[in-house]
Amino acid sequence: MIYADNAATTKMSKAAIDTMFRLVNDTWGNASSLYSVGQTSKEVLEQAREDIANLIGAEPKEIIFTSGGSEADNQAILSAAKIGASKGKKHIISSAFEHHAVLHTLERLKEDGFEITLLDVHEDGIIREDELEDAIREDTCLVTIMYANNEIGTVQPISRLGEICKKHNVLFHTDAVQAIGHIPVNVNDDNVDMLSASAHKFHGPKGVGFLYVKKGIRVTNLINGGAQEKGRRAGTENVPGIAAMAVALKEAVESLSENYENVSKKRDCLIEGLSKIEHSALNGDAKKRLPGNVNFCFEGIEGESLLLLLDDKGIMASSGSACTSGSLDPSHVLLAIGRVHDVAHGSLRLTINEETTDEDVEYIIKAVDEVVTYLRSFSPIWRDLVAGKKQFIL
Ligand SMILES: *Cc1c(COP(=O)(O)O)cnc(C)c1O
Repeated sequence: MIYADNAATTKMSKAAIDTMFRLVNDTWGNASSLYSVGQTSKEVLEQAREDIANLIGAEPKEIIFTSGGSEADNQAILSAAKIGASKGKKHIISSAFEHHAVLHTLERLKEDGFEITLLDVHEDGIIREDELEDAIREDTCLVTIMYANNEIGTVQPISRLGEICKKHNVLFHTDAVQAIGHIPVNVNDDNVDMLSASAHKFHGPKGVGFLYVKKGIRVTNLINGGAQEKGRRAGTENVPGIAAMAVALKEAVESLSENYENVSKKRDCLIEGLSKIEHSALNGDAKKRLPGNVNFCFEGIEGESLLLLLDDKGIMASSGSACTSGSLDPSHVLLAIGRVHDVAHGSLRLTINEETTDEDVEYIIKAVDEVVTYLRSFSPIWRDLVAGKKQFIL
């Protein structure tokens, strides 16, 4: 079996599992209690906060633990919106291919009278700096742009986008869920005011994440209750999960450059091999992308069928298309980079990691080639394309 869906989730590392198991036992006390069992939990919690802060260039008090990336995105955006509204600023800039945790939060703000500008991500999946600068207005209160896209893996020039926001005195948030632990992330170098992360995308546990908020920025809590997280996020802390997240992030950051080199080489082999399939195209820039991300469109087939047949061959992958997500529309990300519906339906996302071998890469290329050829052999769309009744796009 080959797991090539690391953008959906990653397997927990051994060290993270060991930490979590050990701490379920050792830190069962409530971190808010004053007696020793509680204080042990508190110490572990604060150590994790310090470790995570150090790994991204932040201060411990700037880290708020959350239930994951979605909650962190919601909290960042709603906090900035509240600050903005108090000054009469109700304009937010984002991009057309953000994660739904961002886009759906923005939709909600629209109902509250906010105006949203979504920047074009172009055919290569990269935002243009001058277009951001042009979009900033007197009443802009937030720019939220993802660090790296979860479907096509393209990496944005975050540091320069952050610089522009700084110059115009606008808060800058980035959803770094796909980036952190995979490419270098540092809140100072990247000029960000807020940053979201999720443990299960870097070999940590699910249901745990964090939000970095630069000191001095007022945070709105989404969950009301006790005084945990300095009143910014109520609820008894998941100490074993949080500590396992810190361990996973430390491992990921320490092996980052080695993994980057190794994984991106395999990614490039996959891209080269799959490009040989006729009427196919890579989605997103070939180089400005996450080391493990490969995303292709194959004309004349359905991504759904492609996934099922690959699963039969022992390959676990993903598609931006149709029914997997329960909707008939193709991926908003592929539409945002200008793929037409028919083509976007035939997409395949392979997200590999440091455990993917050269043999796996070869096997995947061969399997995809076979499955695409097979599916095309009885596809009515493909027949029309070959007969010239329809124009090839790719
Ligand atoms: C996975 C993901 C999220 C959501 O994180 P959860 O921890 O699953 O809530 C948000 N943004 C991006 C880019 C993601 O890939």
